[in-house]
Amino acid sequence: MKVTIVGTGYVGLVSGTCFAEFGVNVTCVDKDLKKINDLRNGIIPIYEPGLEELVKKNINQKRLSFETDLKKSLKNTSAVFIAVGTPSRKTDGHADLSYVFNVAKEIGKSLSEYAVIVNKSTVPVGTGKKVHDIIKKINPKLNFDVASNPEFLREGSAINDFMRPDRVVIGCKSEKAKNILKELYRPLYLLETPIIFTQRETAELIKYAANSFLATKITFINEISDLCEKVGANVSDVSIGIGLDGRIGKKFLHPGPGYGGSCFPKDTLAIVKTAQDYNTRLGLVEHVVKSNDRRKKNMFKRVLSIVGKDKDKKIISILGLTFKPNTDDMRDSPSLDIIPALIKNNCFLRVFDPEGMKEAKLCFKKFSKNIEWCKNSYEASENSDALVILTEWNQFRALDLKMLKIKLKKPVIIDLRNIYNPNELKNMGFEYYSLGRCFE
Ligand code: NAD
Repeated sequence: MKVTIVGTGYVGLVSGTCFAEFGVNVTCVDKDLKKINDLRNGIIPIYEPGLEELVKKNINQKRLSFETDLKKSLKNTSAVFIAVGTPSRKTDGHADLSYVFNVAKEIGKSLSEYAVIVNKSTVPVGTGKKVHDIIKKINPKLNFDVASNPEFLREGSAINDFMRPDRVVIGCKSEKAKNILKELYRPLYLLETPIIFTQRETAELIKYAANSFLATKITFINEISDLCEKVGANVSDVSIGIGLDGRIGKKFLHPGPGYGGSCFPKDTLAIVKTAQDYNTRLGLVEHVVKSNDRRKKNMFKRVLSIVGKDKDKKIISILGLTFKPNTDDMRDSPSLDIIPALIKNNCFLRVFDPEGMKEAKLCFKKFSKNIEWCKNSYEASENSDALVILTEWNQFRALDLKMLKIKLKKPVIIDLRNIYNPNELKNMGFEYYSLGRCFE
């Protein structure tokens, strides 16, 4: 079988590579010529563990190729996946579907024989129909179907998530399209992965409902964490105490500086807008959006309240810039709120992230005078008034604390991911602050 993936980003590149690994012949298409040329030479544009080896292996075995010309890639293709971005529209927070619709137009102009067009991008309910109508208008005689197959992979563990997903959701009516997608996902049937066939609209909504639920769970524990600080309780124990209840589950119960990333912020906002369009309200998700924004915007105040807000310039070390570990993705990362706010409040920052520095340098270009980009955690700690742990990369979990104490001007650690034990740090002579367990 041959498939085409349009959009070779975090989702398109991982999906295309994993389908190739399943034995399918895959062409990944992108309009970014440099990206495609790099990929042809085995240079991977993103950091995703395990991806480079898998891309190279499948290029060598001639199942994976890269193209900028969509038309060329469509010959004999059974399925065309749309995996382009759907960022928040600046004006109103709705999902910006212009990239998806542009691809639909290009498919309409270029496709000449049957294929199933599959929306893998996260798109609001009704987008599948709009994609169908766009193609039909441009190419009325074309025989095709449009299906929804939302993607649930997580950056940082994307390959495993794609190869061993909790479930695959496919929304379409046509038996022909279903059979193509069943054949494509056949290796997962063998692993007994649940494959759920639904209406297209249902599949579209499942993705938003899943992300909104997870964002709600994070926001819930963040708010409980704030309450713990007021009443002298320990949020880590609360998480264990509630998470062991099978109806609740342990995951996504870790407090932090607010969720970020390329999905939760934009998807929660978009589902709220969809509900408003249909004259209904998702009050709970509306609250989650506001609460998380507020948390991200205000987190710098916690740092200032510890280091003191006076005339003297403070030097703060920041460990972790990406929105989570094992990715170089900076989209909507909490660091984008905290860093500018600290700089505006007379702080100079010494920063380090294992994989996100290149992208972060672009994001913080206008603050370059107030940031020192460091080679590792210890260099970042030199002569600082406090060390802030912003992302829980594994290498930050086992820092040489004796060395840190020597490097820091003041032994102050502000751990916004709760990765250290408060008592241990206290016994070592650190002033240690974390979330929701300040009264240890
Ligand atoms: P991305 O920004 O990393 O990649 C999108 C790619 O599409 C870019 O390389 C861009 O150049 C390309 N593109 C745009 N228009 C094009 C066109 N007309 N023709 C060819 N290429 C084009 O985006 P992403 O993070 O991979 O997200 C893609 C979709 O998947 C989004 O809807 C997102 O919400 C969803 N999603 C993302 C994740 C994630 O972890 N990143 C997880 C699940 C779902």
